[in-house]
Amino acid sequence: MKIISSVSEMQQQALSWERAGTQVGFVPTMGFLHEGHLSLIDLIRERAEILVVSIFVNPTQFAVGEDLEKYPRDMERDLALCESRKVDYVFAPENKYIYPPGASTFVSEEKVSLGLCGQTRPSHFKGVTTICSKLFNLCRPTWVALGQKDAQQVVVIKRMIQDLHFPIEVVIGPTLRDYDGLAMSSRNSYLNDRQRKDALLINQALRSGASLVEEKDVRNVDRVKAEVMTVLRQGSLLRVNYAEVVNRETMELENEIKPGRSMLIVAAWVDSIRLIDNWLLG
Ligand code: AMP
Repeated sequence: MKIISSVSEMQQQALSWERAGTQVGFVPTMGFLHEGHLSLIDLIRERAEILVVSIFVNPTQFAVGEDLEKYPRDMERDLALCESRKVDYVFAPENKYIYPPGASTFVSEEKVSLGLCGQTRPSHFKGVTTICSKLFNLCRPTWVALGQKDAQQVVVIKRMIQDLHFPIEVVIGPTLRDYDGLAMSSRNSYLNDRQRKDALLINQALRSGASLVEEKDVRNVDRVKAEVMTVLRQGSLLRVNYAEVVNRETMELENEIKPGRSMLIVAAWVDSIRLIDNWLLG
């Protein structure tokens, strides 16, 4: 496994793969890897000749006052995990080379990004689309693997790939969960026992809502949302940001539940820790 930290070296390497017709699979991450990340690596290794993982905590997707400084990091452990999953290249650039002084160009998607997480984190997706554009230009992948856990991010990035004509195919991996149902996230490392107990309610709420649709044939959005909220309100440390039923392809709010198309999506804070999760209905 080779580790590249230089932006120009990464680009030269990727251009030489491109010239040789070598197909590259790419998994962008912010590090502190868990099984969710590793499942994306496994998913894309099947098809790619070269497998590149990026590890970069992207400052532009954090707003002032969010958890950029304390975001968990462990490069040594991440590299060992990548090595164990037969990653070929890890791209771990330094911030000052990704965003050199004077950098003033950003990429923003201006529709899907506005709702849901975009309402509470107005600059977040602009940071995500900007870093993904940079990483795509530097690593020149044929495939990029993204996790369904960040459902809105998937739709935003797919839209950007289409709009900016990146020759990249998106491969989506299912959400990996801990034994107790909590969606894996690097941010779970912030949770103490009490907080984790309340965080679990997010998964329970999604399951309760989904069971109305799947077992009782409920198609009424308000009824399902009410069920989700009833479960979420059991958490004294939990504050709901949103709980919605959306079209999984567009992230637009649904008027009626369409099994196979509609998705329950939740964001909530447990104390100050913001968690997201979702569940495909039907
Ligand atoms: P992050 O390091 O949080 O930016 O995530 C990097 C990639 O891993 C994104 O495509 C995420 O959607 C994906 N990911 C994060 N958590 C999970 C999970 N529990 N299951 C599957 N994929 C995940």
